[in-house]
Amino acid sequence: MRDIPGAWRRTAQGAGLLDAGGAPAPTIFAEMTALAVRTGAINLGQGFTDEDGPEEVLRAARAAIAGGANQYAPGRGVPALLDAIAAHQQRFYGLTLDPAREVLVTAGATEALAATILALIDGPDDEIVVFEPYYDAYAASAALAGARLVPVPLRFPDFQPDLDRLATAVTDRTRLILVNDPHNPTGAVFSAEVRAEIVRLADQHDAIIVTDEVYEHLVFDEPHVPIATLPGATERTLTISSAGKTFSTTGWKIGWVSGPADLVDAVLAVKQFLTYTNGTPFQPAIAAGLALPAAFFTGIAAALRDKRDLLGDGLSAAGFEVSVAAGSYFTVADAAPFLQGAEDAADFCRTLPARAGVVAIPLTAFVSEPHREQYRSLVRFAACKRLEVIAEASARLRTLA
Ligand code: PMP
Ligand code: GLN
Repeated sequence: MRDIPGAWRRTAQGAGLLDAGGAPAPTIFAEMTALAVRTGAINLGQGFTDEDGPEEVLRAARAAIAGGANQYAPGRGVPALLDAIAAHQQRFYGLTLDPAREVLVTAGATEALAATILALIDGPDDEIVVFEPYYDAYAASAALAGARLVPVPLRFPDFQPDLDRLATAVTDRTRLILVNDPHNPTGAVFSAEVRAEIVRLADQHDAIIVTDEVYEHLVFDEPHVPIATLPGATERTLTISSAGKTFSTTGWKIGWVSGPADLVDAVLAVKQFLTYTNGTPFQPAIAAGLALPAAFFTGIAAALRDKRDLLGDGLSAAGFEVSVAAGSYFTVADAAPFLQGAEDAADFCRTLPARAGVVAIPLTAFVSEPHREQYRSLVRFAACKRLEVIAEASARLRTLA
């Protein structure tokens, strides 16, 4: 194989994506979806729904294409969407934003994260505090930016961080505290105490809080609380979200970041040279989605809660110990009784299609190398599938024993 120099290696190393020969490997999500396609197994791996989202949103995109919204959007985003995001933050959380200066549309939450990290990290002395397990893109973007990740562990089954560990992790070297609430892959929702401690530490060490809230409308027990609403947080927090999960439009890649104008400007400075803009006809469609009545938003949470319950019951009946998710698409279960010949959850997940006709994601894909052992038997299952699909997957998993 040729030795190709470049920053790609840092990205791949950050996310643990170099294969044995040193070549870049696909993400765990791409690998597992390909495995599902190849084997015909039920895909409870990658987080996407198997049903379309609201017809109003789909219709608005078709109308936008037919109406000629097919060229570059303005750099910050289509004004109708900027307005709709600001109105959404006001309506759900009481946050007041200037849509022209404090909101930026991005190519999914992924670009918002990458642009934010690249914009705000200034060298190898800068640290990013993350909660481990963490979404794979965090480590890749941190590595690309040359920052050091400082993980704070979340432990099965409640996945709440220890406040003393958190306090030790945040220092004057901390540039960013990267929060994901509701959390992928664990399904945890942080307690009010944890949220308040994050803000206190950020203030004490003058760190910026970056909060990934793509599952903001998929919480099951209490209303979602954005960190930006906490006293002292607004001026130091960038809030990231995405239309993908709320409107079942993961393929549209419409995301956004909002917060203080100077921080948003910094992110824009990088973002404009990553994609410049994207998804012109999808932007007004998502604006229409964000303005849907409350019943839509409570409806998607209630429907996903039923799916979570069915999946949790199915996994328990099959013999897994289950962590009950408080939000997000995902449920984590302990596959320890079923590892048998498999070395760890990654091995287990690679053989699961052959053993039971189901695809899932190992939690080891979301942790740094030295911490794999603590997560070695844990598996993430996606609950965002039709009830009959979850019922069939559960029946298949019962044959594992
Ligand atoms: N953050 C988290 C926690 C996610 O689960 C995902 C996947 N939806 C993303 C970011 C990426 O979102 P998008 O598809 O909008 O880029
Ligand atoms: N967010 C999705 C998940 O966690 C995957 C998105 C992707 O493949 N990049 O499953």
